[in-house]
Amino acid sequence: MLLVANIKPASATNIHQTCNKVCKIITDVNKNSMKKIRQVIQELNEKCGLANTPIRAERDARYNNATFSAIGKTPFQAATQVTYTLSENVTKKKNVMAVFCGNKLCKKGTHLRAKGKEVTCPGHEDCTATIPPETTIGDEKRSAAECISELQSDDRPLVISHFTSDGDSAAVFGASEKQGHMIENLKDLCNFFDSQRKQTAKAPFSSHMFPGRTKAMRESMQRRFALDLKLRCRTEYENCFKHFSSDLPLMK
Ligand SMILES: [Zn+2]
Repeated sequence: MLLVANIKPASATNIHQTCNKVCKIITDVNKNSMKKIRQVIQELNEKCGLANTPIRAERDARYNNATFSAIGKTPFQAATQVTYTLSENVTKKKNVMAVFCGNKLCKKGTHLRAKGKEVTCPGHEDCTATIPPETTIGDEKRSAAECISELQSDDRPLVISHFTSDGDSAAVFGASEKQGHMIENLKDLCNFFDSQRKQTAKAPFSSHMFPGRTKAMRESMQRRFALDLKLRCRTEYENCFKHFSSDLPLMK
């Protein structure tokens, strides 16, 4: 309340204590809101005469640290927290329908273990971790399955037919397994063209293809070329999509 009123908190500890008091309420409010969104989608589908029709959704994960930032620095994974969101593709709003928050951090567990007590996270009293520290943080199969169980907790659960995602197909397997019904994987343009950029940037070109006195200069030129090519290809694709009024078979 103080933060909303633009009153600065007295200290970091104060923010922490406030968070501890309201976090459960905020989680419940968000969960109820997402449940409402799912009900609205059901009602919308019924109004359009598409009751019990599978819907399209998109999903992605965000980490507290970039997953590749630990390379060469630590034998552990860089990220310790993950937020996995599942959004609907039924309305233009693309509301979030389900969220999975994975957390490996647990101060109490670390403290108890340092004192010589045998505790495992998650599971002990007041544990803040939601996933065991030895699991892979980027396991999208588990995260997607958790989101699907969230959908299945409804009285009339939504069924998903298509997933728009990055190249990680593990999520689709996880979700399909949980749902007991195959989901088709669609590629998201952002990630798709970004993989094209990465491939072009490391592709072996002839040594005289890019101008530059040193190797670093030539590599820099290749990276710029890759970025330019990506943007041009994406523009071409989007214009083509518009021109053929989103008729994919005609585009082919
Ligand atoms: Zn713990």
